[in-house]
Amino acid sequence: MSRIFNFNAGPAALPLKVLEQVKAETLDFRGTGMSILEISHRSKFFEQVLDDAIDRTRRLLGLNKSYHVLFLQGGASLQFSMIPMNLAVAGKPVDYVDTGTWATRAIKEARNLGKDVRVVASSEDKEYTHIPENVPVDRDAAYLHITSNNTIRGTQWRDFPDSGGVPIISDMSSDIFSRRFDPKPFGMIYAGAQKNLGPAGVTLVIIREDLLERVPKELPTMLRYTTYSENKSLYNTPPCFAIYVADLVLEWIEETIGGLDAMQKTNDEKARIIYGYIDSQDFYRGTARPDSRSKMNVTFRLPDPELEKQFLAEAGAAGLGGLKGHRSVGGFRASIYNSVTVEAVKALVSFMKDFAAKRG
Ligand SMILES: *Cc1c(COP(=O)(O)O)cnc(C)c1O
Repeated sequence: MSRIFNFNAGPAALPLKVLEQVKAETLDFRGTGMSILEISHRSKFFEQVLDDAIDRTRRLLGLNKSYHVLFLQGGASLQFSMIPMNLAVAGKPVDYVDTGTWATRAIKEARNLGKDVRVVASSEDKEYTHIPENVPVDRDAAYLHITSNNTIRGTQWRDFPDSGGVPIISDMSSDIFSRRFDPKPFGMIYAGAQKNLGPAGVTLVIIREDLLERVPKELPTMLRYTTYSENKSLYNTPPCFAIYVADLVLEWIEETIGGLDAMQKTNDEKARIIYGYIDSQDFYRGTARPDSRSKMNVTFRLPDPELEKQFLAEAGAAGLGGLKGHRSVGGFRASIYNSVTVEAVKALVSFMKDFAAKRG
């Protein structure tokens, strides 16, 4: 078996320990004589997995009882529509911060639904290379939507805006469980699992009780958050396998890594290694403004397109995969999510040094 250093942006690397456990349990899940793929979602076996995933999410993020932990399908992208459908309030605006691609899509969906959308801050004029520093707060807004980590542009909020009591809703698809934060100002947090939490096919939604009171009863059943909160995400068949793998990843964070603070420490170290190198030379150029840099997605460019082509080919040959930047922006992106090891980041930096020495 030979595994590469995987810097894919999503679906992305999973901890080796988790993959090995999945493999070991695939024919006989914990003495059932079946795989988890073949068991009823209403069985006690699956319910234990679901309860464990919910409990670990609560413990890791320090969520109090007012938050519901839900598992939905449709990706983070469906949330762009479900949020305004469920949580907009008649007569109140909904506020958004535009930090590029995914934030922009969230805004588009809210507009499509005819909501009173205000883009209160944006970094569009600077090609989304930074997080806006001033977010004007209107206490009248129904919510303030942000994207905590911008997977494509490689920017990340350091500190969240002071929303003056307006519930913050954050798309945390690409940095959930990567660092500690205070959940209190958040009315809702959501994340497609396939970046930092598990396989594609499940979306984690964390929503505060008081926001559930806004959900309009006339919405289609599958599009109401209350359908999931009232049925512990078991109104219909949930994505069982994806939830099971996500639970193993959460267990890995808690028990192997040692919790969110330890996870954050490792992530800080990885970011320090790669940005430290980028800042020490002038062959590679980081594309995000240093004060807004993401600790999950490191975006950089080389001096010219020909060198970029060679870099990609040689990196691949050296066992470093998934470095190509998003098709909308080009260049390179090293996604260094929770499961990407310090060793992988060191291997990348070592390759970058060698390449620059040869071609710089
Ligand atoms: C990948 C990504 C999305 C889209 O997720 P899907 O699950 O494919 O819908 C949305 N937001 C962010 C921040 C992402 O990184």
